[in-house]
This record gives sequence, structure tokens and C-alpha cells, in this order.
Amino acid sequence: MPQTQFNLLFGSRQPARDSQRSKVYSAEASFLYRSTLVGVVNKRFKGIGEIESYVWAILRRAYVKIVTIYSGQGRRVACCEFRLGEYRLKLPVWARTEATILHELAHALTDFKYGRNVAGHGWEFANTYLLLVRNVMGAEAHALLKAEYKAKKVRTKAKATRPPMSDERKAALRAQLAVARAAKVKS
Ligand SMILES: [Zn+2]
Repeated sequence: MPQTQFNLLFGSRQPARDSQRSKVYSAEASFLYRSTLVGVVNKRFKGIGEIESYVWAILRRAYVKIVTIYSGQGRRVACCEFRLGEYRLKLPVWARTEATILHELAHALTDFKYGRNVAGHGWEFANTYLLLVRNVMGAEAHALLKAEYKAKKVRTKAKATRPPMSDERKAALRAQLAVARAAKVKS
């Protein structure tokens, strides 16, 4: 499959060089400062709450479609696929419960937030699903799911990166290794 076709279907995994960035910035600066609509495009928002309401109102409009719901007829499992720039949630009848819809939606949001190269049900997904459950289903559901994840040892956070080894520790390990080698030679 040619790369462009692949990208169209599955999303680009390697971003192209941002070659027209300065042109875009320059055009947008003119838009802001020279526009006769200056009062409109420079409208300021007072707080995060006001910005949230504004953004959610935009996303609710039908023409901004990030997620499309499909009936999933004939499918055994529910899924979330990325095709042609949108996440398609396919939900057969059995899967039309709040928890499953949120699970599939969490796939879309995980992909959106962390990119296409993370594991399907890695910590990124679990973290996103927990967030979604807390925000949509509430604290009790969140606590329950969190406890279940914990009981089943599901990771919901990135692995802590190991601090670099100190010189003393390195020396100690080298000494241990030397002792082990010496013991091996003797036997
Ligand atoms: Zn899943």
C-alpha cells in the first residue's frame, strides 16, 4: 500500500516536516491585528470554565466530528477504529452499555492524547478510562474501577524511570562480578 494511502487509512505515524509553519503564523498575525473583525477574533475569555464551555459547545456541533458511532452490526466485539480522520466506535447491541461505550471512547481519547504508538490497553488507556469514568459516571464508579485495576495489577501510570546509578553502586557491582568470575574459574 502506498504511504499516502496508508496514512489516510491508519493515520500518519511520522509527522511530516512543518515546512509552512512561519507562513501560517504570519497569516494568523495579520488575521488578528489587521482584521476589521478585530473585536471578534480577539475576544478574551475570563477563566478556564468559560473556555471549557466554549470548546465543548464547538465540539457538540455536528460538523466537528472526532468520533462517529456505528451500529457494529454483525460484529462479535465492540471496537474503536481510526479511519479517514475520525474514530469510529462500533457498538453491537450487547455493547451498548455505558461502561462499554466509555471503554471504546477511552480508546479514541487515548489515541488522540498519546498518539498511535502506544499499546491498546496500556497504562495510557487505563489512565484515560479512569479519568473518563470519574468525569462521566462519578466518584463511586471511579473508585470501584480503580480498585479492580489495582487488584488485577493493571498499570495506570508510566513506569517510574530508574535514577541513574551512582559511582559507588557501579563499583560495588563490578566487585561482585569480579568475585563471581574468580569463583567460576576455581570450579
Ligand atoms: Zn479495548
